[in-house]
Amino acid sequence: MAGYKTSRRLYAIAKRVMVGGVSSPVRAFQSVGGGPLFLDRGRGPWIWDVDGNRLLDYVCSWGALILGHANRRVAGRAARAVAAGSSFGAPTVPELMMAREIKKRMRSMEKVRFVNSGTEATMSAVRLARAYTKRAKVIKFDGCYHGHADQFLSGAGSGLATLGIPQSAGVLPGAVRDVVTLRYNDIEALDGAFGRMGNDIAAVIVEPVAGNMGVVPARRGFLEAARRLCTENGSLLIFDEVITGFRVGPHGAQGLYGIRPDITCLGKIIGGGFPVGAYGAGRRIMDLVAPNGPVYQAGTLSGNPVAMAAGLATLSLLDRSAYARLERQSGDLERGIADAAARSGVDMEVNRVGSMLGVFFTGRHVENFDDAKLTDPKLFRKFFWGMLRNGVYLPPSRFESMFVSTSHGEGQIGMTVDAAGRVMEGLR
Ligand SMILES: *Cc1c(COP(=O)(O)O)cnc(C)c1O
Repeated sequence: MAGYKTSRRLYAIAKRVMVGGVSSPVRAFQSVGGGPLFLDRGRGPWIWDVDGNRLLDYVCSWGALILGHANRRVAGRAARAVAAGSSFGAPTVPELMMAREIKKRMRSMEKVRFVNSGTEATMSAVRLARAYTKRAKVIKFDGCYHGHADQFLSGAGSGLATLGIPQSAGVLPGAVRDVVTLRYNDIEALDGAFGRMGNDIAAVIVEPVAGNMGVVPARRGFLEAARRLCTENGSLLIFDEVITGFRVGPHGAQGLYGIRPDITCLGKIIGGGFPVGAYGAGRRIMDLVAPNGPVYQAGTLSGNPVAMAAGLATLSLLDRSAYARLERQSGDLERGIADAAARSGVDMEVNRVGSMLGVFFTGRHVENFDDAKLTDPKLFRKFFWGMLRNGVYLPPSRFESMFVSTSHGEGQIGMTVDAAGRVMEGLR
C-alpha cells in the first residue's frame, strides 16, 4: 500500500473550494471517517487512486457501471459520439434507439421521457401521477431514496403519520405536507394508509429492492399489496428502478417479481457512466406530458447523444450470459462473506438480489430502515478500512449497496472473500 497521502492533501485543498470537498455528500466518507480517496482511473473491476493504490471496486459509480470501468465497447461508442458532436438539443437517432430498447425490455414503459438524473425522473414521475389522478398525496417508504427533490426530503411525523415533516433545511412544510412516509415492508401500515385516505392518494413510490438503506429486499407480498391497493383505489404505482433497472435482471425488478408498475423511473445503468435518467409509463399516462399534454417537463441536455450511446452499448452487452455471470459471481461473493463471518463468529446478515449486495453487522433480520439503523456502525467502519487495506473498495457507508459488475472475475471474488475472512478475524 502506498498510503493515502496525496488523497489527504487534495482533500484538504478541495474542502476550501468545494462544500465538504465533494460533489455529493456520501463521497466525503463521513460515516467511516478518514476522508475520501481521490480516484484517478479505472479499468474493469479495478480502480487506481492518486497515490497509486490499485483497488477492487464494489461501488462501480453507485451501480451505474454494471460492465465495470472503461468497458471497451462503451468507451468506444461514447468517444465516437463526442467526436460527432456532443449535444444538439434536437432529436437524435441514439435516443430513439434507446427508447425502443427500453420498451422492448420493460413493457410497462410504452413511452419514455429522458432526463439527466434519477432525481429528475422521480420528481417528474410524481408530478405526472398527481396530474393523472388529480390527487395530492404520495406514499413513500422510510429508507428508500428517490433523489433530492424537496418532496422526497421528508420523514414521518409522529402519530398516525399522515403529515410529512421536512428532513432538510430549506424544504418548506408545504412541499412535504402531502407526502406520507411509511415503514418499508409493512403491509399493514400501507393497508391502513389506504383505508384512511385511499381517495386522496395519487401514487405509491417504492424501490422494489431497497438499495439505499443497505440492501433490503421487498418481503413476499409487499409489492403485490402495493400493486393491489393502488389498483383498487385508482392510485398509480411508481417503481423507482434507478438502481434495479437492468441490474437485477433484463426486465428490472418488475420482470423479476412479475409486477407491472404504472410508472417506472430509470437512471444509473442506462447512462453507461454518463448523467442520465428516464421515466416511462403506458401511453395514456405519458401522453399527459408536454408537448402532448399539460404536465410541463423539459431539459437542455436531456437525451444527450453521448449518454445514449454509452447506455445503448451497455444494454447491448447485457445478454442472458451476462446476467448468469453476475448471478454466479455475486452468489459466490455472498456465500463467501457469510461463511467468513460465521467462521470468525461475527454477527452478520448478508442480503443479495442479483448483483446488489449488502452486509449488515447485526444478529437480527433486517426488513426496514429501523432495523438497518440498529446495525453496528463501529464494526462497519473497521470492516471498511480493513477491506481497503486489503485492496477492496467498498461503499463508505453501511446504508449503501455493494455492486458486482460483469468484469468481476472468479479470482477477484476469491480475493475479496479471503480479504473479508482476514478482516473479520480481526473484528472478533
Ligand atoms: C441514485 C438514486 C436516485 C437518484 O438518482 P441521481 O441520478 O443521483 O439523481 C433515485 N432513486 C434511487 C433508487 C437511486 O438509487
